[in-house]
Amino acid sequence: MSGVVLDGKRISREIQDELRPRITALRAQGKQPGLAVVLVGDNPASQIYVRNKIRACEDLGIRSVEFMPPGNISTDELIALLKPLQDDASVHGILVQMPLPKQIDSERVVAEVVDAGRDVDGFGTHSLGLLVRNKPGPRACTPAGIMEMLRRYQIPIAGKHAVIVGRSDIVGKPMALLLLHQNATVTICHSRTANLAEECRRADILVAAIGHAGLITRDHIKPGAVVIDVGMNRLTDKAQVERLFAHDPQRLASFGKNGSVLTGDVEPLAMQELSSYYTPVPGGVGPLTIAMLMSNTVGLAEGSIWRD
Ligand code: NDP
Repeated sequence: MSGVVLDGKRISREIQDELRPRITALRAQGKQPGLAVVLVGDNPASQIYVRNKIRACEDLGIRSVEFMPPGNISTDELIALLKPLQDDASVHGILVQMPLPKQIDSERVVAEVVDAGRDVDGFGTHSLGLLVRNKPGPRACTPAGIMEMLRRYQIPIAGKHAVIVGRSDIVGKPMALLLLHQNATVTICHSRTANLAEECRRADILVAAIGHAGLITRDHIKPGAVVIDVGMNRLTDKAQVERLFAHDPQRLASFGKNGSVLTGDVEPLAMQELSSYYTPVPGGVGPLTIAMLMSNTVGLAEGSIWRD
């Protein structure tokens, strides 16, 4: 058996194309959707993510404003810098790129700057509360994108057993709640779970959001499961790359050329061979995150996703 690839790039394009007429309608009312993007310091991975998000805004006609304070800024200074955005009617979403430098209290920044109506990432306590209660509100972009993908591929969820590995506030927990609201029976696993493989093997839908390359192996996958690999790990260790990609001469050649490869949390060959559907890395979950960020920005500009 060989699983069907869930094509995140295609679904991301579809979602963004569907936003275009909504953006046009907003602009016709003199209300261009606006996203403030905040990048603190010079983390190279964050710089790439932010650049891609700004590009997506430009492509769709969403206005973006950038804030790039130095990495040694204090929590109070950052909050003071961003606070005026709360009264800026042209800014509908505020994105603070994570992780923030260690000296900054991220929870305070989210609570004091983005949580009141501009929480485009769905990270704030208010947004999470709305999610728990299954009320409209901005949902965390990565899990929301995964739900969109499952919906568009017409993968049944109700009555299925979903196992999520990872319990972060931005991926694992919201993912579990979104699946629960669609009537899956949900198990959440984490680093203290006894017998991870046994729990995972019960999954009809397995979501890996761990940040550990190839942790999910053949032993963890029930044949025919839908496998969603959220992990994004850049590997530079030759032996590990050769073990995970022994079946894939193209990826090995790319490693030889670039000195690194991007891989998920699931062993690629096991996922391809055992699953019914799976998300590749790259090209699976990643592109959906940006599409849902754009979707949340438009929803906030319309006022269509923020009702108490
Ligand atoms: P976190 O580090 O916040 O959470 C990781 C989770 O994995 C924790 O709950 C942790 O458990 C669990 N975990 C760690 N080791 C094990 C183990 N050995 N067995 C079982 N569970 C384990 O990560 P994020 O949720 O932010 O991200 C997860 C991955 O997804 C990362 O690779 C990240 O880069 C990627 N990502 C990709 C996105 C995309 O757009 N494609 C977007 C966001 C994230 P515990 O709580 O017990 O510590």
